Amino acid sequence: MSKHERHPDWMTDLARVINAPGYPRWRAMVAATGGCAHPIHLSGESALVDTGTGEILHLYTTDDEPSGRLLIACGNRRASVCPACSQLYQADTFHLIRTGLSGGKGVPETVSAHPRAFVTLTAPSFGPVHSRRDGRACRPRKHGRVCDHGRAIGCHTHHEPHDERLGQPICADCYDYPGAVLWQAHACVLWHRFTLAMRQELVS
Ligand SMILES: [Zn+2]
Ligand SMILES: [Zn+2]
Ligand SMILES: [Zn+2]
Repeated sequence: MSKHERHPDWMTDLARVINAPGYPRWRAMVAATGGCAHPIHLSGESALVDTGTGEILHLYTTDDEPSGRLLIACGNRRASVCPACSQLYQADTFHLIRTGLSGGKGVPETVSAHPRAFVTLTAPSFGPVHSRRDGRACRPRKHGRVCDHGRAIGCHTHHEPHDERLGQPICADCYDYPGAVLWQAHACVLWHRFTLAMRQELVS
C-alpha cells in the first residue's frame, strides 16, 4: 500500500460539499426538513409588502440559496415513500389523540371526563386510484373495458406494499385533479365549517 493512497471518490465529493461556501445554509435546510428522503425543491420569490405604503418590507428569493432552490419536507405519510416524514406524522397523530383523551398542550385536563367517540371522516373521492387489498386484485373490472382515454378502467394487479403506483390514479386524465387541489386548498375552511355545524347539531 502506498503512503499516498487516493481517497475514494465519495470522500472527495463529501469534502467538496462540506467546504463549499453555501454548506452551512444547505445543511440547515436539510436539517429543517427533518431528514426528509424526498424533499420538494421550490424556486421563486416571495415579498412582504406594506399595503398602505407599497413598501417592500421583506424580499426572499431562492436565487440567493446555495443551490438556487428551497427544500421543503415532502410530508408523505407512507413509510415506504419517506421514513422521516411518516414518523413525524405518526408522532403528531399520537399526541393529537393523547391530548384529546387526557388533555395537555393547551387542552384542559377536564376533557378526560367527556364522552368519547372515535369518528373516521373520509374525504370525497376524486377518482379511482391503485390500492392494495389483502389477497385481492387492485380494481377488478371486466377485461377490455376502457375509459374515454382508451385506458383500462380496472387493474388486476396484486400490488406489493412498495409499489410506486399505489395511491396514483388508474387514469390520470379521468382523475379530478382540480377538485382534489381545491379540496386540499380549502381544507381549513371546510373543517372550520364542519366543526361549527357539528356543535350546532350536538346542542340541538
Ligand atoms: Zn419526506
Ligand atoms: Zn392497480
Ligand atoms: Zn381516462
